[in-house]
Amino acid sequence: MADPPLPDLLSLEPDELHQALLRHFEGRGQPGYRAGQVQRWIYEGLARTPEEMTDLPAPERAALGEAFRLDEPAEERLSESRDGTVKHLWRLSDGHLVESVLIPTERRLTLCISSQAGCAMGCTFCATGWGGFDRQLTPGEIVGQYRASRRWVEGRDLGTVTNLVFMGMGEPLANRGALHPALTILNQGYRVGARRITVSTVGVVPGILELAERPEQFRLALSLHAPDPELRRGLIPLEKRYPLPQVMSALRRFDEAGGKRITFEYTLIRGVNDAMELVPPLADLAREVGAFVNLIPFNPIPYQDWRPSPAERIRAFAAGLEARGVEAAVRETRGRDIEAACGQLRAQVLVQMGKGRSG
Ligand code: SAH
Ligand code: SF4
Repeated sequence: MADPPLPDLLSLEPDELHQALLRHFEGRGQPGYRAGQVQRWIYEGLARTPEEMTDLPAPERAALGEAFRLDEPAEERLSESRDGTVKHLWRLSDGHLVESVLIPTERRLTLCISSQAGCAMGCTFCATGWGGFDRQLTPGEIVGQYRASRRWVEGRDLGTVTNLVFMGMGEPLANRGALHPALTILNQGYRVGARRITVSTVGVVPGILELAERPEQFRLALSLHAPDPELRRGLIPLEKRYPLPQVMSALRRFDEAGGKRITFEYTLIRGVNDAMELVPPLADLAREVGAFVNLIPFNPIPYQDWRPSPAERIRAFAAGLEARGVEAAVRETRGRDIEAACGQLRAQVLVQMGKGRSG
């Protein structure tokens, strides 16, 4: 029988990592402070191998490498857009590929990461959905996209990654077994502020409730795309399992948990979900949970012939929402020249229509 895989230094939560390292060094008759040294190399030094941990004696570096894994996704391909957007395609240890996208704006550098290889949700407007599901990512593979991207950015003196959004490939709340530890590791290990991390979901109710229970103020984005259940069902098959009224009640719980911000994502598809009659019900839903609305022009995908709504319709949507007391922003498509698709969408970013959200 094959040996069980070695524990992954990148997948363990900070407490577990500390305990595992203490046990490891204790077993080797080494002082306890070695655990802290390794943790610093991982979280602050972004070390990729034990060999880089130069304040450990050479035999300890070798022993660490034999007792633990540390596989970070490897860069398979890189595309840089004229507008500064950078897309990485990462190869996982078993050959699966996932994407992440760096999106620089004036004051921030946002990293959009993947939570699954593929996605099982089958949303009709999403290229990842059409491609189907391959497998779950581990916490280390999620966190690894952040580490590798940060190393890339910092190596070029481009500042550092300030914000993280789970808007790459996959449905993060359908991989909660890895999402929860990844959030803890990013927040407590790498010290990314909870309010700088946004989890985007298509409406997995139990997952929203779990996030509401967490004490940290992670942000939540709901991919709404239609205020009406019937229309939404045609875009998002999960609507049949978790209908909008249930999703809204989970969001109310999230909202009541205090200090937690909710955003609605609304991809505008010409003639599909951009009728002006939809503005009042959309505004009602947003007001119910104090949500900010991001309007996203649909990015055409190869699988069907939908088109984005015209710019003036998108502006009218935003104006209609604002007139009803709802904050809204139009996201500009970024990285068009490099197909910075973040798995399924081109990377997008808040642009000034109204106040744009900071954080
Ligand atoms: N599965 C999660 C997160 C990944 S998708 C979710 O659906 O929320 C990230 C965002 O990209 C979602 O808001 C999704 O609706 C949007 N998106 C997917 N395909 C798109 C397309 N073709 N054009 C514009 N936005 C798209
Ligand atoms: Fe999956 Fe999100 Fe795409 Fe839907 S929109 S198929 S949930 S990645």
